[in-house]
Amino acid sequence: MKVPLLKVDKLTKHYPLAAGFLTKTVPVLRAVEDVSFSLEAGETLCIVGESGCGKSTVARLLMRLVDPTAGRVLMEGTDIAGLNTRELRASRRRMQMVFQDPYSSLNPRLTAGQIITEPVENFESLSRKQRDALAADLLRKVGMRPEMMHRFPSEFSGGQRQRLGIARALALRPSLIVADEAVSALDVSVQAQILNLLLDLQQEMGIAFVFISHDLGVVEHIGHRVAVMYLGRVVELAPCEALFAKPVHPYTEALIAAAPVPDPTRVRLEAPVEGEVPSPINPPSGCAFHPRCPLAVERCRIEIPPLVSMPDGRSVACHVRSDLERAPTAQFSRSA
Ligand code: SF4
Repeated sequence: MKVPLLKVDKLTKHYPLAAGFLTKTVPVLRAVEDVSFSLEAGETLCIVGESGCGKSTVARLLMRLVDPTAGRVLMEGTDIAGLNTRELRASRRRMQMVFQDPYSSLNPRLTAGQIITEPVENFESLSRKQRDALAADLLRKVGMRPEMMHRFPSEFSGGQRQRLGIARALALRPSLIVADEAVSALDVSVQAQILNLLLDLQQEMGIAFVFISHDLGVVEHIGHRVAVMYLGRVVELAPCEALFAKPVHPYTEALIAAAPVPDPTRVRLEAPVEGEVPSPINPPSGCAFHPRCPLAVERCRIEIPPLVSMPDGRSVACHVRSDLERAPTAQFSRSA
């Protein structure tokens, strides 16, 4: 049986908080709950959701920058939680990360050339000539001039710094790049350039991406599949086109309804849901979306809906909508 490049199985991350002065129980922040998905080589899975939904924690768990409370991350069949420091370092050759703020992730005292060749030099020593040749090649790959290798991060624009971050991630020729809000700090025109660069690199090098974003326009442009997260859980996982053509989970509908519509021919869905995202320290019982959901029924307040596979290849965690989608005679309706 073919092993997926990445398999995430029931991944969970809880952060115990400091107990109150008079309370004995330790409150727990439930950042990620029971998240599962897989990713093939050359594929892009986008993870979307409002701020605080746990998507960035998933990114950190994938890179093992934090350890999970439960669940597994299998990279080419190997559970990264079981790796010792040396093995984890070796596995990082295969998995790299691009951060939201390229400036704070680039050492201001190193030149661009030193920054982008540093990951390789952690594994092997390079001569000056080899280092310059590698830096020139990586700079060209991300659309920058080789002579820029002698400049410092402060001498670059935001878009150029993000290109440097991508060049550094490419240095070890990874199979997977986890990009956490990698374009959200950039102007729209620079965003488009960086997204197109990532798409070109994916075609050329067969890299898979886990792309974390709150911007549905970006996700629609770059994603093959999309996982929608709400309060730590995946509530819908679907091929990108299917998700935008017909969102099934009420929260996905609300997110798409709230997003700007650049295409005037596309019909805007119903008005987005109102209210704040509840606290992950004290999430609502049953379906965590029920206090904001216009379709909530009594069962929603009691039972957590499981993520159920639908006949069209998507998975949905909703008592009402997944039953409708599975029933052979049921007609799906936006108002149902
Ligand atoms: Fe709404 Fe109930 Fe579905 Fe949750 S399970 S999204 S509350 S209908």
